Amino acid sequence: MKVREIFAKAVLTKTAISGFDYCLNPYVGCGHGCRYCYASFMKRFTGHKEPWGEFIDVKVNAPTLLKNQLKRAKRGIVAISTVTDPYQPLEKKYKITRGCLEALLGKQFSVNLLTRSPLCLRDLDLFKRFKKIEVGLTITTHDEAIKKLFEPRSPSISSRIKTLETLRRERIKTYAFIGPLLPLKPAPLVKMFEGVVDEVLIDRMNYPNMVKGIYYKNGLDNYLTDDYFNVIGMDLKERFEKKGIPVTMIF
Ligand code: SF4
Repeated sequence: MKVREIFAKAVLTKTAISGFDYCLNPYVGCGHGCRYCYASFMKRFTGHKEPWGEFIDVKVNAPTLLKNQLKRAKRGIVAISTVTDPYQPLEKKYKITRGCLEALLGKQFSVNLLTRSPLCLRDLDLFKRFKKIEVGLTITTHDEAIKKLFEPRSPSISSRIKTLETLRRERIKTYAFIGPLLPLKPAPLVKMFEGVVDEVLIDRMNYPNMVKGIYYKNGLDNYLTDDYFNVIGMDLKERFEKKGIPVTMIF
């Protein structure tokens, strides 16, 4: 893994993503290295030659820079993050996400956090002091073996469910992002989420060419069809809604 400490020019960026005003990415690259990661397009702009997941630029000045940017920024909702995981393993050492949260808290900007890691619980003390915050865990299947094929380095599914449980118990608004829909069975997945999420978002596999090889090699071709995404997506939606959990379909 090639780790570089860099000084970013800006860290709070306006975004056109629906529901958010800004996005904030404390790192370039991601140590989780998910095989289907759409954010790997970043390499085109950053000039990295290493495979996705094998490099990380740490924006060491992000918290200071953010404090300055916040002096002039109109208050709004900040998405953390859109092209990296804010709680990837290096965050344990660098605490860049934590520093950024402290800056946002100072100005009471609203935050929407999305991660695959229980490391987010380290910052529970900060989450609790925001007037408006939502914390999401991405969970793409109920099956740990399938997870390993597509997300070899991300934390286990069970640890993410426990993270949601803790957040909910501490009265933090939670959501699950089921995206991309990996091979899964709806019933066990829905059961896992019972009582631990306020909301669910569902998305299909948007960049199938990146992972076709994994599907074919493992005899999973049937799970990469439009029919699979449409049928399983709707099945999940109905099951969650029956349990009173609102669902947003992103496809
Ligand atoms: S955790 Fe998110 S940003 Fe990181 S590799 Fe996986 S999909 Fe990409």
